[in-house]
Amino acid sequence: MAIMKGTEPIVTVRGLRKAYGNRIVVDGLDLDVAAGEVVGLIGANGAGKTTTVECIQGLRRPDAGMLRVLGYDPAREAGRLRALVGSQLQDSALPDRLRVAEAVELFATSTARDGVELLARFGLGARRKSAFASLSGGERQRLFLVLALLNRPRLVILDELTQGLDPAARRDVWTAVAQLRDEGTTVLLVTHELDEAEALCGRVVAMRGGRVLDQGTPAELVTRHAGGARISFSTRGADELLVAALRRLPGVRNVTASGASVTVQGDRRSIAQVGAELVRRGEVPADLDVEVPDLEDALLHLLDSPPSTDPTMPARPATDRELVSLS
Ligand code: ATP
Repeated sequence: MAIMKGTEPIVTVRGLRKAYGNRIVVDGLDLDVAAGEVVGLIGANGAGKTTTVECIQGLRRPDAGMLRVLGYDPAREAGRLRALVGSQLQDSALPDRLRVAEAVELFATSTARDGVELLARFGLGARRKSAFASLSGGERQRLFLVLALLNRPRLVILDELTQGLDPAARRDVWTAVAQLRDEGTTVLLVTHELDEAEALCGRVVAMRGGRVLDQGTPAELVTRHAGGARISFSTRGADELLVAALRRLPGVRNVTASGASVTVQGDRRSIAQVGAELVRRGEVPADLDVEVPDLEDALLHLLDSPPSTDPTMPARPATDRELVSLS
């Protein structure tokens, strides 16, 4: 049966808490991922992103909170989830001498996809007999993607997928993830590469100190936290009429003029509107400059924002918080 995008909950997290010793690293986190979504977890180092996805996969036992992944509780039913969740984790590795085709055979279950076809699709068809150690960084990441997809997972978890890759290899891996997205695979992505999040994710969740700071489409976060576009130019006649006309344009939020310099702030629509207004007035400033903030600007603003409450809840003892398994 075809699944309508966004209708079926794949991941539901409520009030997730996790501490290492007395240090709380995930602090009452709520997260939803619906079928067919590509959701990115972004945030500073140590924000708790990896710990969150490890709890979602049943690799770590939460201290508190409710987790459901494809209807299962990962803390108790990790075995059932293993066949349904494909993952590429930070620091993934395989034995050096294992050949690409052998790795595929090793990981394939009885219902696996055609490994030969999958390797070809990710540009590894010619590397089937190559040992893992001989693969480039990009080839290794693509192999991990193949292994993550091999058993037709309902959810794919990718943690810092393109870390350390050269620009061409990054693009190859992005193309592979975009293919998954276009096929309707649900993906949860942890990344520091904000251009990657902008390119691939329909929704991003910004985290700090184990909490969600804000979430939305990349464009929504940019608009909410990075102040929209900024257009500046010099003009011969920065008079009140010009300023008033610019203020009336669709998408313009603010106009300031100082001497001959004019600065307009607004959303992306305002860029073309300001350009058209200047042309209409016969003004073509030589120094027109447009700055369009991106997700990185938005995240920097968000991470700089004051915390809403202090994470002062005491942690429980560390005894029962060991890694459940790392298979
Ligand atoms: P990064 O972006 O650096 O990968 P992250 O947002 O994924 O960070 P986590 O890896 O979840 O964050 O780590 C959250 C905090 O928990 C960090 O301060 C980290 O040092 C700490 N931490 C992670 N794993 C352990 C562990 N096994 N034992 C103790 N502390 C840990």
